[in-house]
Amino acid sequence: MAYTNNNYLNVNESYLFSTIAKKVSAFTAAHPDKKVIRMGIGDVTLPLSDAVCKAMHKAVDEMNVKETFRGYGPEQGYDFLREAISKYYMTNSSVVIDPSEVFVSDGAKSDLGNITDIFSNDNTILIPDPVYPVYVDSNVMLGRKIVYVDASEENDFLPMPPKDVKADIIYLCSPNNPTGAVYTKSHLKAWVEYALSNDAIILFDAAYEHFIGDKDLPRSIYEIDGAKKCAIEFCSFSKTAGFTGTRCGYTIVPEVLKRKTKDGREMSLRSMWTRRQTTKFNGVPYIIQRGAEAVFSEKGQAQIDAAINYYKENARIIADTLSKKNVYFIGGINSPYIWMKCPGCASSWDFFDMLLEKIYVVGTPGVGFGKNGEGFFRLTAFSTKENTTEAMERLSSIL
Ligand code: PLP
Repeated sequence: MAYTNNNYLNVNESYLFSTIAKKVSAFTAAHPDKKVIRMGIGDVTLPLSDAVCKAMHKAVDEMNVKETFRGYGPEQGYDFLREAISKYYMTNSSVVIDPSEVFVSDGAKSDLGNITDIFSNDNTILIPDPVYPVYVDSNVMLGRKIVYVDASEENDFLPMPPKDVKADIIYLCSPNNPTGAVYTKSHLKAWVEYALSNDAIILFDAAYEHFIGDKDLPRSIYEIDGAKKCAIEFCSFSKTAGFTGTRCGYTIVPEVLKRKTKDGREMSLRSMWTRRQTTKFNGVPYIIQRGAEAVFSEKGQAQIDAAINYYKENARIIADTLSKKNVYFIGGINSPYIWMKCPGCASSWDFFDMLLEKIYVVGTPGVGFGKNGEGFFRLTAFSTKENTTEAMERLSSIL
């Protein structure tokens, strides 16, 4: 008899995006003449940059030649990409990351889900609410104890370390999905101090770091002293370089990062992650890694900056509309997400229904990201400028 993992019984069925899809298709079936604008999508709409595509074309040609063909590559990523990422850390955040601390993967979601492999089931996991659901579900699947830290209007959706909880593993995301909130250096310093004093580990999701334009805001947790002794950082090419369908990301596990087994034996997390990846993962395709390398070229950086600025202009259009109408919101400056309060104290779903029925605009109900998301709504800047402008004109007309 093969027994199943009981913990899967405790994973909340994610009705969020399927309910949205059902409601939207029912609406379009009933009103085929209405143009529905989708402002809820977390996927990019601009294509890959020329620099990336050229590099991938070249790599495809190399694969067709005996001398340059590549078979299995290193599981942690090719040196050329690990070195490019290491250099990027220096120019982007003045942080020294050795290429041997860089692990290339098929995206941040896989690494965020898989990192649980190297930690004991006895840990207490601290997760902000609202949150990107992957952190919660991957720990529920293992039956781990989760405690939540509240993000709310009172703390600008930037929860700080709790005084009464000693957590072992802490998930932080900045710029945040869904709220768009961004931690400052002093916020992160408090989290690093909390982690160091509890011998805890911070799993820092920096998937949106390249949206940070403000020079004073940290793009990497390693900008904070001591972070290398308590943090693993997860990054992605998905939203920053349009790789949502191409799939590539990277995770930094510093060499100095060590923790103990329950019986007191010290282990290197970098060695453990190397062991985990070499056992269960066979690397990202050479062609994709050449495309990812091109993201860091001069042309590549200029092209991805142009795409990000396009999305940020959309975010500005949304933010201006909400400001004019005196609607509380955060995000949208150093992030592609805008987190708005549903006007008139409407619930997230009531507001969703109202927007769909009255102005044919689709967003994401905040309650889908956790209980503290109730009464809030997520809009994204990933639509086209034309659609964003039209959606905001429609929104203005009813607010
Ligand atoms: N982390 C956050 C906060 C995200 O919002 C997403 C994607 O939406 C990811 C990670 C996943 O990124 P990837 O496409 O690299 O798997």
